[in-house]
Parts: sequence; structure tokens; C-alpha cells
Amino acid sequence: MFRYTNIEGGNGLPKCSSFFLSTKFYLLLCKNTITTASIKKLKSLSNMKNVQLAFFVLCFSSIMFGQTPKKITKTDLEWQQSLSEMEYFVLRQKGTERAFTGLYDKHYKTGTYACAGCDTALFDSATKFNSYSGWPSFDAYIQQNVLEIQDNSHGMQRVEVLCAVCDSHLGHVFNDGPKETTGKRYCINSAALQFHEKK
Ligand SMILES: [Zn+2]
Repeated sequence: MFRYTNIEGGNGLPKCSSFFLSTKFYLLLCKNTITTASIKKLKSLSNMKNVQLAFFVLCFSSIMFGQTPKKITKTDLEWQQSLSEMEYFVLRQKGTERAFTGLYDKHYKTGTYACAGCDTALFDSATKFNSYSGWPSFDAYIQQNVLEIQDNSHGMQRVEVLCAVCDSHLGHVFNDGPKETTGKRYCINSAALQFHEKK
């Protein structure tokens, strides 16, 4: 229903969906209260409970549906100044590092792989597998933090993977991942990631 603009595999919610859903619940409850009860009754304890219930639904649904993180935007000059040459090439110019050269190709510590551009958590180490492709490979991403868009560049039809927060290029996703899990292979540049080990 309220899917993000992912082409496939994404389950992110649009920014305000949880707010609208919450508000809808709240308004429905309030409307019911106003049309079926007098103003005096509104002040009664039972109706206060309704208001409390509405507030609870508001909070609970916000938690349940989650919040899509806010976008981070920078000028091209700011990106150049805040990233290394390789990070800028991959993240902002949609470049690809040479296979088998990246820091995380054969890296299997427990922790989280975050965006090298904005430090948003993108992939859990539990989803990493060795695809023998020469690039870090994952079969799933951390929900809401990754976007997938069609990429028709270089005469190929591929699905590009972006950080949902800073729109930086991460890599591509293919349908030749592990069949026993998602069947997806998120082929990600090491230069697009920074690892945070779980202590
Ligand atoms: Zn990012």
C-alpha cells in the first residue's frame, strides 16, 4: 500500500504516511466522540479515556509504521570537501571501484555497514555473503534506508541502489542472490560504506 518509490524489494514508507495514518485514527476517534456525546460528556472520565486511547493509537502507530529518515543534501563542492577522492567518485559520480580491491570485499566481522556519505545504517553484517564477484554483497538492506531506481546507463538495464537519506550511489542489485533467502544480490562498493563493528 504505502510503499516508497522503490522498484522492487523496498518496503519503505513515505515520509508522512505514519503521521497521516495516526491522524486518521485520531480524527476518527474524535469524530465518534463528538457526534455521539455531548460537550459535558466530553469532559467526563470515560471520554477522557477515549482521548487517551486516541493519543495512545497516535503514538503506537507512529512507532509501528516507523519514520523515514530526513534527507541530507549538500552542494557538489561540499561533497567534494567531505569525501575522499574514491568516495566522491563512487557516491557522487556513480563510479565503480575495481573488483577485489575494496576494503569490505572479504570482510565478515559482525556489525553494521553505514553510508560513507551520511553514516546512515544500510546493511547488517548478517545479510552479507561471499558472491565471489569482488564486491561486498548483501541479500537484504536495512528497511527504509535504501532506494532502488532503474538505471539504463552504459547500454544496460540495471537497478541502481542509492542511500535513501543522501541519495548517494551505492551499487546495483541483481536477482542472482542466495535462493534460500531473498534471491537478491546487493552488489555494493566498499568505498560507499563505512563499517561499525558490534562490540
Ligand atoms: Zn547516505
